[in-house]
Amino acid sequence: MKKISALLVIAVVAVSVITPPLLHAAEAVNTATTDVGNKLCPVSGNPVSGQDFVEYQGERYGLCCAGCKQIFLSDPVKYIAKMKAQEAQANPAAGM
Ligand SMILES: [Zn+2]
Repeated sequence: MKKISALLVIAVVAVSVITPPLLHAAEAVNTATTDVGNKLCPVSGNPVSGQDFVEYQGERYGLCCAGCKQIFLSDPVKYIAKMKAQEAQANPAAGM
């Protein structure tokens, strides 16, 4: 009986030590954003500045200027579709 309770204590300690990093890792995955890596601004079609970004549904899109952020967020689906069409035209091999 003593052996069993000792094992239980070890198990409980092990779980409490291991669990927090796992929870933290799960949070990190949920908050992490994927950089789309687009070269053209979804709103204007100009080259992205490399300094202006907008996040939408866990993905980060490059913008040409800070002003495009509000415009993008007013209709993200439309601008994402527009951007993908532009990217495909600019670099046809990218979709292969
Ligand atoms: Zn822009």
